[in-house]
Amino acid sequence: MAVERTLSIIKPDATRRNLTGKVNAKFEDAGLRIVAQRRVQLTRGQAEAFYAVHRERPFFDSLCSSMTTGPVVVQVLEGEGAVAKNREVMGATNPEQADPGTIRKDFAESIEANSVHGSDSPENAAIEIGFFFSQVDIVG
Ligand code: ATP
Ligand code: MG
Repeated sequence: MAVERTLSIIKPDATRRNLTGKVNAKFEDAGLRIVAQRRVQLTRGQAEAFYAVHRERPFFDSLCSSMTTGPVVVQVLEGEGAVAKNREVMGATNPEQADPGTIRKDFAESIEANSVHGSDSPENAAIEIGFFFSQVDIVG
């Protein structure tokens, strides 16, 4: 499988509880390399732009609000099949359905405050990485 890059976000519910290191350890233990990382306070406009694909979903407003309640850590993860591997490590969207040992099973507070975001395809990964990082920020 090819080496890929994917966009990950450690959400405010996790940064608030000082879980950045524990989340990063799960990525690194799974063989994903953190090749770019920045802590940022999203504005409402930035959250709405990032989640524009979910504009019509009933939870859109609430999701954008929760993403601005505190700092997030945006990061680029690199590795073999990184998009799918990251989603495995994250676990199911709803923590009640997430497998044991996944980030969401171990750390998520709810289906909305579910600790991490990960790109869902290589195409979206490229778009989402470009939303937060330029080429010179990513050191593989
Ligand atoms: P993400 O895109 O954050 O990696 P995902 O791909 O597992 O998560 P999506 O369906 O893309 O899930 O939903 C995006 C985000 O919207 C979820 O991570 C979660 O925070 C929130 N969300 C999804 N479904 C619900 C819901 N039913 N109620 C509240 N929030 C939800
Ligand atoms: Mg998604």
